[in-house]
Amino acid sequence: MRLAILIITGSFIMFSTFLIYATSIYLKDLQYRAADRSAVELHSLYSTTPINAITERDIYTSLYDNQKFVLFTMSGEEVYRWPSKDQSYNVPREQIINPDFYPMEINDKKYIVKTVMIESEYWNGYIAIIHPMQEYYTILQMIIIIATIIAFMSISVTSVISYFISGQMVRPIYRFTKQLQYVENNGFSERLDLRTNLSEIDYMVVSFNKMMDTLEESFNQQKQFVEDASHELRTPLQIVQGHLNLINRWGKNDKAVLEESLQISIDEMGRITKLIEELLELTKNENKQKLVLEPIDLNNEILSRVNAMRQLHPSYTFTTDLKDDLYYAISQHQFEQILVIFLDNAVKYDNKNKSIHIVSKQMSNKIKIEISDKGVGIPKEEVNKVFDRFYRVDKSRSRELGGNGLGLSIAKKIIEANGGNVYITSKINEGTTIHIEFPLK
Ligand code: ADP
Repeated sequence: MRLAILIITGSFIMFSTFLIYATSIYLKDLQYRAADRSAVELHSLYSTTPINAITERDIYTSLYDNQKFVLFTMSGEEVYRWPSKDQSYNVPREQIINPDFYPMEINDKKYIVKTVMIESEYWNGYIAIIHPMQEYYTILQMIIIIATIIAFMSISVTSVISYFISGQMVRPIYRFTKQLQYVENNGFSERLDLRTNLSEIDYMVVSFNKMMDTLEESFNQQKQFVEDASHELRTPLQIVQGHLNLINRWGKNDKAVLEESLQISIDEMGRITKLIEELLELTKNENKQKLVLEPIDLNNEILSRVNAMRQLHPSYTFTTDLKDDLYYAISQHQFEQILVIFLDNAVKYDNKNKSIHIVSKQMSNKIKIEISDKGVGIPKEEVNKVFDRFYRVDKSRSRELGGNGLGLSIAKKIIEANGGNVYITSKINEGTTIHIEFPLK
């Protein structure tokens, strides 16, 4: 705002100076022309009229108000002046022959003098017109005073107006920063509560609150994740600690206790390692620059995974219905990871019928893979929750089966990072189907 006032003031001063300068030139020229005209008239009077026939009236009518007139001989002797009584000045001799205007002061008042030479049958010599400049200076002074007053007034008015306008603009920003400081001091849960007369600030408030909601949510998720992870780690660690104490007290001499406790501790350590690996997988930064991937033959991968499962679980029946040539740009390792997670779950949660069926097909705009089992199924209200980290329908059962509740969230994360999506359909005691979809470009 201060800059705006400065610019307005500067422009006004420049504009006024230019205006005053132009007016002064014009006014000065008017005065010079008036002096010139009188000089021309008197020149013609003295060139055409015998000197004795020239009356005071003739001279008077040739002159403007307050002009003075002096008549000289060729040698510069003064012969006549009008008004004749006014003896307060003398035209310097050397200036009489000067044809240009020149300034003169009489009783502290400014005049200009114009001299003209006369060579005629009636008179040879010079005339001098002494023209008053007082009127010119008075008008100029008035213009300067008026311009100064207007400048002062307009600067004051601009300052007052801009003070109010800037106040109107700055006040909401001030309130906004105050509230920001409050939020800063009082933490995540605080929100801005501000309505201003500036829509931009209101928009900032809404955006800020939205951003804070997102931040709070992700902060809480992280917190929850750390809490869950610590909780999950605590159980196997407590078991290991318990058995180490057992060995310490009795196991040193009792071989049976020693062996059993060592085996349990080794198993639990294996569980901890698996959990940590899964946690790392889940928190891996996926923002890294995406590699350009070559499409891989999905059916080929499914078959080799199914064959491996057949060898691992000979009591299970694995059937496949793999149609079309299905190619999709995904890292082979990641595709294998998701197949392992879903096939492992199918095996874990179907230990009665032990029948697992895998379908792959190409639909109009997507590739679809379905992994079905005839196992325990998932209760309807929990079907969507099983993708949450650490969520398990039956916690103790999952633990018995070596699960941490992270498999499905890892699989979902990988699928989504590769542009696909996954969902589950399930009926309790009838079985579960995992539906994986990848879009076709
Ligand atoms: P977990 O390591 O416990 O298997 P997951 O994230 O892989 O963890 O699965 C989460 C939960 O979803 C499991 O604990 C289980 O209750 C349920 N679940 C997953 N797959 C199946 C399935 N094929 N049949 C029935 N329940 C399943």
